[in-house]
Amino acid sequence: MRQPTDITPLTFLDYPHKAACILWYSGCNLRCPYCYNPDLALDKNPAIRDVIPFLRERRDFLDAVVISGGECTLNPDIRELCTRIKALGYLVKIDTNGSNPAVLHDLLDAGLIDYVAMDHKMPAARSWKIRGGVLFDRFSECMRLLTGSGINFEVRTTVHPMLLDEADILQMIRESVGLGYDQTYYLQYFFDAGKTLGNLPPPSRRYDRGLLDERSPLPIGYRNFPEDRFKY
Ligand code: SF4
Repeated sequence: MRQPTDITPLTFLDYPHKAACILWYSGCNLRCPYCYNPDLALDKNPAIRDVIPFLRERRDFLDAVVISGGECTLNPDIRELCTRIKALGYLVKIDTNGSNPAVLHDLLDAGLIDYVAMDHKMPAARSWKIRGGVLFDRFSECMRLLTGSGINFEVRTTVHPMLLDEADILQMIRESVGLGYDQTYYLQYFFDAGKTLGNLPPPSRRYDRGLLDERSPLPIGYRNFPEDRFKY
């Protein structure tokens, strides 16, 4: 079974209201300019040890396992991985870029995932071409699967003012609503790790959150925005 390239042993932020670990799987079919872990996306990181003993040892401390990446649905062993994690009694969450409805369908159909965080990358009119199609069409299909599945999921967008302005963001939220999404829409601020796939410069302005909140048809959850940091 394919192994992750890294493990975050404990997080309280990545599975709602649960103590979780994160398994990081290398390789991705997208090349987002803001990607802050190029080596992971480009599949340059070596795999680590067998993850199952690690999970077996922590059953008393952790509630959930987050499978992330890269794009974790590209892992040819993801079904086996989820099956083995579920057999240990964990909840399973996957983070996906919304490009792989076939695998998502398979996992949902088998009852192997409990929560999904799915990216919406770009407005439909500017969506990226990917192998065999257009990303927005795949995202739409994933949304159809998730809204019909009955499991909890969230839609989120990483934002950088050079790539997406307020009008783009509102358009993407409206597109999600049009596809049946009716929960909080999460905006994740660009993480400036110094090196990104697209060599993005630091953001030169802040977003007008008042405007976004006023015009959004859904509540917006803001993550990692600079104006929220160090507030106590
Ligand atoms: S940000 Fe996510 S979807 Fe985009 S290239 Fe990086 S790993 Fe892939």
